[in-house]
Amino acid sequence: MTTYSESAALLKRAKNVLAGGVSSEFRKYNHPHAIFYTHGKGSRIYDVDGNEYLDFTLSQGPLLLGHSHPEVLQAINDYSDQGQLFAGQHIREIELAEKLAELIPSAELMRFCLDGSEAVQTAFRVARAKTGKSKFLRFEGHYHGWLDNVAWGLSAPSAEAMGDRENPNVFPWSAGLADHARDEFIILPWNDLELVRKTVAEHHHELAAIITEPIMCNNGCITPQKGFLQGLRDLCDQYGIALIFDEVITGFRVSLRGAQHYFGITPDLSIFAKAIASGYPISAIVGKREWMSLIEEAKVIHAGTMNASNPTVAAALATIQVLERDQPHERLYRLGQKLMAGLTKAAAETGQNLRVQGLGPMFHTGFTDLETVTDYRATLSYDKAKLGKFIAAMHDKGVRVIGRGLWYISAAHTEADIDHAIQTARQVLESMA
Ligand code: PLP
Repeated sequence: MTTYSESAALLKRAKNVLAGGVSSEFRKYNHPHAIFYTHGKGSRIYDVDGNEYLDFTLSQGPLLLGHSHPEVLQAINDYSDQGQLFAGQHIREIELAEKLAELIPSAELMRFCLDGSEAVQTAFRVARAKTGKSKFLRFEGHYHGWLDNVAWGLSAPSAEAMGDRENPNVFPWSAGLADHARDEFIILPWNDLELVRKTVAEHHHELAAIITEPIMCNNGCITPQKGFLQGLRDLCDQYGIALIFDEVITGFRVSLRGAQHYFGITPDLSIFAKAIASGYPISAIVGKREWMSLIEEAKVIHAGTMNASNPTVAAALATIQVLERDQPHERLYRLGQKLMAGLTKAAAETGQNLRVQGLGPMFHTGFTDLETVTDYRATLSYDKAKLGKFIAAMHDKGVRVIGRGLWYISAAHTEADIDHAIQTARQVLESMA
């Protein structure tokens, strides 16, 4: 029987000094409470109670190569031996930028930051400066970080509460959000090109950017309807608006060249973070020269004391080197799709309404009778309590999945891992029948 007593004791201690016992809100929502881990290796992670988990959380996505990849760790150690942070430039930073420019279709010029949230804000600044307009259009259910202008509208009690699709009600995700941040954006349901066309035709004079995850990974792992991304591209061209792809999850995971290569749509600006560096804090805002030149000319200011430190750049270069050499993507898709098919079959045979949706390298599981799910509003009707029971029971059996039902596959996962996960899910689904 899985026990969590050591984690429970540490959480009690942590709560005296760490707000809520954690360093990020999402870490509270483990099962049965925040868990303290000791180490991770390959597809496995281990906690202070001695529990071993087959890990499909992968630190919320970054660990595309699995935990503690030896070549990445070696590269970090070697390069950190030469220094950590120079308040100046170093050669590997150019090498990393050259590599991203070679791989990513839209990456003509770039800057490195620490995380996805701040790179997103940099993109907004560039878009505003270039277009002379102030608002951005974003979509329900897309996550672009935790800062004010993208935290408004992140949570909704129900689809009904969101109201009119053309003029949705917007709920704050947190207390303390600035009221004026609510006025920085227009929000719409995703995957409804006609609605976007109508709204942009009315508001283009105030729109600097349209931002989208190319796949709505954060809710339901929903792919774009045929023609949707191209439709956004066309609208942005027509009205002089920046198309921003938030590739924080899709980047390197969907393809080494990003979702922009996978879908064949080139945005003006895009954000890469998570999987770029195997868990080290580095992100990139990349874009076409005509947009990024505003940073080049210092019309738009972008800064950061900790940007592009030696360990983070070494981690990114080593991660990309391993990805280029080992070419794991075909396998990530194959294993992911095998797991998706296995879960779907197990659900059908145990009479459970588990919906499995996504590409394979990442996918979502939720309990619903809906046959088609194309936007966030549909996901709000999923049975959250049932999902909670499923995730908790999987965890108790040593399979760790993100609480909101998102699964990530890594290059370290094996056929045996996938078979084990399917077998475990079948037992859990049977027990829930
Ligand atoms: N954009 C997307 C699509 C994300 O999934 C996330 C984080 O999960 C972010 C932006 C924010 O990135 P970070 O947590 O690195 O600030």
